[in-house]
Amino acid sequence: MAGEELINRWDSYLGKLKERYFEILAQAEEPLNGVIEGLQFDNVIIHNVKNGLHNQTVLQLFAKAEEGWGKMQTEIYKSGNLKLIKEQGGKLASFRDWLNTEFTKFEVGLFARAARKILDNVKQHIDEKKLHRCTQCAAELPINVYSFMAVNIKCDSCGSVNTYQPDDRVRALEYYVLEPLAEESALEPKLRKDHDKSANKEYFTKYYTFLMDNVPEKRESYKRTLDERLNNPFFG
Ligand SMILES: [Zn+2]
Repeated sequence: MAGEELINRWDSYLGKLKERYFEILAQAEEPLNGVIEGLQFDNVIIHNVKNGLHNQTVLQLFAKAEEGWGKMQTEIYKSGNLKLIKEQGGKLASFRDWLNTEFTKFEVGLFARAARKILDNVKQHIDEKKLHRCTQCAAELPINVYSFMAVNIKCDSCGSVNTYQPDDRVRALEYYVLEPLAEESALEPKLRKDHDKSANKEYFTKYYTFLMDNVPEKRESYKRTLDERLNNPFFG
């Protein structure tokens, strides 16, 4: 087979695998909507779904690409045009990068969708009144419902000290809702950071700034983590 013909065949093979990638995710869309609709206060099931889809797309399609490349190599040796090995082999690595980038976009989007649904559920199930009343005199206490940490608050009416314990579902928001939404806000540098070291800092800055803005009471702790990340010479 002539070199040009081999290249065309290889390009079209990889092109078909890319089409297959989108087909698999399109087929998953409807069942996935059902899963998201059925979420309550955590995203555990989403991790399982994600692992399954990662296997079906990234792992299996890359295995197919490797298989195709094996056949290509055989054909290239037969053709005697050995410079094609190095030239065309690079497309295998590019395909792997493509799969990983596409899947990261999908994954971050999926967890963000789940996060919005969980946030809705929590909002609907939180009894704001119950959380806001003094245990002694039932006067209203100035408590932020979406507080993640236990705090002691003195009641203005009777002077007794109430310990506010955030609802477990509210505590869980940090992990199931805010972190996925922070990832979403930092997606652009996240996609670049494997190939561009400077994007790492941009990624951490966006990620932690989102958390600092949305969880003011933990601002200092996030700020410290961000500073540690930014000053880590590994990411310089
Ligand atoms: Zn009171």
